[in-house]
Formats: sequence, C-alpha cells, structure tokens
Amino acid sequence: MNPTSPGSGAIRIGRLLGIELFVDPWIALPFLMVASSNSNMGLGLAWMGIVFVSVLLHEYGHALAGRSCGVKTHSITLGMLGGVALLENKQRTVKQDLWITVAGPLVNVVLWLGCTVLLTRLIMVGQDAAWMEWLAVTAYLNWWLLLFNLIPAFPMDGGRILHGLLLLAGQSRWKALYVVSVVACIAAVGMGAWGLWDWLSEESSFPIFRLLIAWQVWVGARQRLSFLKQIEHTAPELAPGPGQI
Ligand SMILES: [Zn+2]
Repeated sequence: MNPTSPGSGAIRIGRLLGIELFVDPWIALPFLMVASSNSNMGLGLAWMGIVFVSVLLHEYGHALAGRSCGVKTHSITLGMLGGVALLENKQRTVKQDLWITVAGPLVNVVLWLGCTVLLTRLIMVGQDAAWMEWLAVTAYLNWWLLLFNLIPAFPMDGGRILHGLLLLAGQSRWKALYVVSVVACIAAVGMGAWGLWDWLSEESSFPIFRLLIAWQVWVGARQRLSFLKQIEHTAPELAPGPGQI
C-alpha cells in the first residue's frame, strides 16, 4: 500500500526537480555505526555517503519515470534502510507501474556500468590517479544495491517487478500477490539465516540492518497473506493492483 506522508519525524532538507526531500533522523544510525566501528572513519563515512547518494538517484529514477506517465511524486525520504519515493495514488496500468518500478534499479545499472566502463577506459589509456578508486567503489556499491533491490520481495523493487510480471502473464491480483508474499516469506527467512550465519561464522559485527530488513519483509508478507486469506472466498477482487502496494 502506498504511504500517504513522508513519515513522522522526517526532516525536510529541500526541494529538487519539484520534489520535496526529507531525511528520517534514524539515517544517522548507520553513519554512527560506521564511524564507531571502522578504523578509517573518513573512508567508511565516504562509502556510506556514496550509498545514500546512489539511493537518492535511484528514487529519482522512480520519480522521473512516474512523471513520464503523468504520475506526480510528492516527496522522497531517505531512511536508515533505504529510500522511499511517495508517488500520488493514481490509477496506472500494469506496464506503467512496471516502468516506474524498473526505472529505480535501472539507475543503479547505469551507475555500475558507467563507472566500470569509464574506469576501464582510463586504465587502458594509462591513467593512474587516486580518485579513480572512487569510480571502482561507486561501481561496487551500486552492484550490491542492485542485487539487493532485486530480491523478489516487497518492499524491494524485485517484489514489485515479480508482481507486475505475474499480472502481465494473466494471473489474478489475488494470485499475483499471494505468490509474491510466499516468495517474500522464503526470502525473509533466507536473508535472516544469511545474516546470522555471517555473524556466527566470521565473527563479523552484528548484521543489524540485514536482520531488520528480513524482519520488515517477513512482517509485511505475513500481513498480506492473512489479508489474502480473509478475502479469498468472499472478495478476491479487493487484492491491490498496480501501484497500490
Ligand atoms: Zn526502488
């Protein structure tokens, strides 16, 4: 379901391309954790900065794709688990919704490929400057953002893409949402197990963000499944359609 406000406590930081920008105060947490755990604090914070700028550009991908279909974006909010573009709740076709959804990850593809191609080109012509390392870092981080975002579970775009593809394939709204919710439950368990395994086997720091996202995915999927069970025999047409999740 589409949220209707940027979230309580979100702080307005400005307006860009006609879209209000907000940050959730909890965004400070990953920065504080990186600052306190990384021996090279400046480098860690710079990596985090690249992640959040990439997330912001990703959200603008959704927003501008929406604009191309006549769907306005009220605001973009950056939080500790990523970004949210708040698009107006307007009727849209499955294809339009798929385009709006795919445009976000497409930005990460462009950043990943663009930085990789540029870096390769610079190396081939004999360039060897320290700043070139940042091209490699940006490409690497966008590759991981892309992979993570394509996990086929809401609230990641992969879940919306799977939902749209099932609708395009002729599945009912009820069936499409049911399949995505079951896949999301499996993905949540997998993500949680992966985080715990990493933590226990490599003695790495506690993977709090991975576990929080796994929990968020699990709770959302369980709520959708219980809603779908309620309407299964009485009103399956009440299952949300494109742009309503
Ligand atoms: Zn997205």
